[in-house]
Amino acid sequence: MIDFEFDKHCYGCSLCKYKCPKNAIEMAYNAEGFLIPVIDKEKCIECGLCEKICPHLNELKNNTINDEDEILAAYRKDMRNYTKYTSSGIFSELAKKFVSSGDFVAGCVWDENMKAKHIVTNDIKNIEKIAGSKYVQSDIQEIYTSVDKILKENKKVLICGTPCQIAAIKKAFNSENLYTIAIVCHGTPSPKVWEIYKQKLEEKEKSKMIDANFRYKGKYGWITPYTKYDFKNKSSVSKLSFTEDAYVIAFGEDLLHRNSCYNCKYKGTNSNADIIIGDYWGCSSKLLKKSHNKGISAVIVHTEKGKEMLELISNEFVFIKDYKENILKENNPILNPVKYNPKREVFYEEFKRNNDIEKFNLSTNTLKYKIKKVLYKLYFFELIKRIIYKFKH
Ligand SMILES: Cc1cc2nc3c(=O)[nH]c(=O)nc-3n(C[C@H](O)[C@H](O)[C@H](O)COP(=O)(O)OP(=O)(O)OC[C@H]3O[C@@H](n4cnc5c(N)ncnc54)[C@H](O)[C@@H]3O)c2cc1C
Repeated sequence: MIDFEFDKHCYGCSLCKYKCPKNAIEMAYNAEGFLIPVIDKEKCIECGLCEKICPHLNELKNNTINDEDEILAAYRKDMRNYTKYTSSGIFSELAKKFVSSGDFVAGCVWDENMKAKHIVTNDIKNIEKIAGSKYVQSDIQEIYTSVDKILKENKKVLICGTPCQIAAIKKAFNSENLYTIAIVCHGTPSPKVWEIYKQKLEEKEKSKMIDANFRYKGKYGWITPYTKYDFKNKSSVSKLSFTEDAYVIAFGEDLLHRNSCYNCKYKGTNSNADIIIGDYWGCSSKLLKKSHNKGISAVIVHTEKGKEMLELISNEFVFIKDYKENILKENNPILNPVKYNPKREVFYEEFKRNNDIEKFNLSTNTLKYKIKKVLYKLYFFELIKRIIYKFKH
């Protein structure tokens, strides 16, 4: 029977629940609001399958990128609809190809209650809902059965998720028809913290939230993200993501993540995803200009299948090989787990008591943050980048 400190080490992938032959495992929320397994000892037959497949209990190689893995910068040729995607929308473009060939895709959406969950679909309209990073842990338990059915029907399925989710999917299914994309992930916040933050926004707006975009590019472009919350009464609230929005600030300060994120084993290419996609932070101002500040991705191509996948979208994207070292240098979460913030325990203790992120003394209350906020608003960082670019060329 699977038994370790679930609160500390479990990734919440629900694979043990899916694989249990006796339905002895259910997933339930722990005190911090993360899904963990609950085992019915009466039903358990000690077959040991859950231990064999658990992503936490598997030994893995060091977090590496192999010499054969290609690392590319990518941006779109056609910038229309660019606000839908977080960086350049590689998943969405691939998803369109799969769906238009009669195959399936799976990814994270907001459900009708703004809970992040994975769905499986072959409806082109759902691709837009999957696009965009939802900064909260997504529940993937429902997709295993659908993916199994699709693969048995000999159809292809493209799945995108966090590296730990992709690792679980790869343990669940071994099929030529399975195509996988892992996002670069520095950690996933608690669904409970998000739910309560969302409720507070709804109370203020006196309306139900219908969409949340944590990386809205419509105001200052990709490099200076805004959060944009949309409500049923057609009102909309936007804030500078990392300097004004308490939820995103706490996320950025690494206070909210699942405990397993701080020791994540699925860094580098350990998830075995065909490709890995993230933001190309720290890109040159030349690239920023070429992409019109509308989103640049960092792409790691890990398998032959990954190469085939990029080939499918080669007309829609510009892929550049020259930035491997810079991408790895600038994007720490590709190879390393996020650093544990010692204030995390206090944060969750306080949050359990008063259910309010804003009451927590975030470092945004410091003068440094306040100055940064003003500079962002004055478009200062953008201006400096442009001046440097002009100076160099
Ligand atoms: C919680 C989280 C933390 C991240 N941290 C980093 C980081 O530190 N550095 C970095 O470079 N990139 C990070 N990313 C990835 C980045 O935000 C973009 O998703 C990535 O660059 C791909 O962008 P895109 O425009 O190609 O695709 P997008 O249109 O943004 O969507 C890509 C896919 O992300 C998946 N997705 C969205 N939210 C979730 C979720 N909650 N759980 C699982 N899958 C999800 C969807 O299924 C979709 O298929 C993070 C994403 C998330 C969700």
